[in-house]
Amino acid sequence: MALSLNEDLVRLISDEVLRQFEGSVDSINSTPPTISPATQSTGQPATGAFGCPSPRRPAESRVLTSSLVPNGIPVGVSVRHLHLCRADCDALFGPDYELRKLNDLYQHGQYACEETVAVVGPKGLLNSVRILGPLRNKTQVEVARTDAIRLDCLPPILLSVNEGRAFPVGLVGPRGTVTLDSALIRARRHIHISVDEAASLGLRDGDEVDVKVPGGQGLIFCNTRIRAHRDFRAEMHIDTDEGNAAGICCGQPAFIVDNSAAAHGRCTLCAV
Ligand SMILES: [Zn+2]
Repeated sequence: MALSLNEDLVRLISDEVLRQFEGSVDSINSTPPTISPATQSTGQPATGAFGCPSPRRPAESRVLTSSLVPNGIPVGVSVRHLHLCRADCDALFGPDYELRKLNDLYQHGQYACEETVAVVGPKGLLNSVRILGPLRNKTQVEVARTDAIRLDCLPPILLSVNEGRAFPVGLVGPRGTVTLDSALIRARRHIHISVDEAASLGLRDGDEVDVKVPGGQGLIFCNTRIRAHRDFRAEMHIDTDEGNAAGICCGQPAFIVDNSAAAHGRCTLCAV
C-alpha cells in the first residue's frame, strides 16, 4: 500500500532521524583522527593535475589591499530568494500589498521580508522562498545549482534578468499565482564595492577578478564580477553551493587576487 506523504508523517520521520542523529554524536566525536585524503594513498602530499609534481600554488598569489580595503572583503552567502515587481506582488498577495520588513541586509536599503512564496519549476517545487525588498521593475528569482536541480532545470548564470534571457518559473502566493517566461537565474558571483574602494584597488565597475577564500576548504573563485557604485559597501555575494564548497561562514573575509601574480604562479612543467 502506498504511503501518503503528509505533514504528520514527515514530522514523525524527522523526529526519528533527529533522535538517531543525537545518539550518534558521541560516537562521531570519539572517532580517532584519520589521515587526510590528500596523503592517504601514498603518505606523500598530493600532486597537481596529471600527476604534476609542482602544482600551481594559488595560496601564494599576491592579494590586493588598500587603505580603504585593508582586511579583505566580507563574504555574504545568498540563500535562494526572489525580488518582486509591483504587478507580481499584487497578483501573489493582493492589490497594493505592502511587504513587511523582517531585517535589514548588509547593503544599504536592502531588506529581507517576512513573506515567502513557493517557486515552481518544470518538475519540482521549492517551498518558503524568501522575498527581498524593496520592489523592483522586474521579478527575479535567484537559486543555486542544487536548488535548480530540485526544480529539474538549469537556469543561466546572470547578474540579473536585465542582463540576458532567464528561465521560466512559477510562483505561488497566498492570494494567487504567476507564471513568468524569464525570471529564474543562478546569480553570477560578484562583489559589491563603493567606487572609491574599487579605485583604491585599481578596479572599476564591470571588471572580473579572482577571489581567494582562505581556510581548510579554501577556494579561489574565478570570474567574479566587480559591481562598483557609490552606495555599495564592500561585500562578496556567492550562492549556497559556492559557500558550502568553500566551508564559508557569512562575514569571513575573502581576498582579491592579483591576476598577474597568479599568472606568474603557473606550473612551469604542465602550465596548468
Ligand atoms: Zn549582490
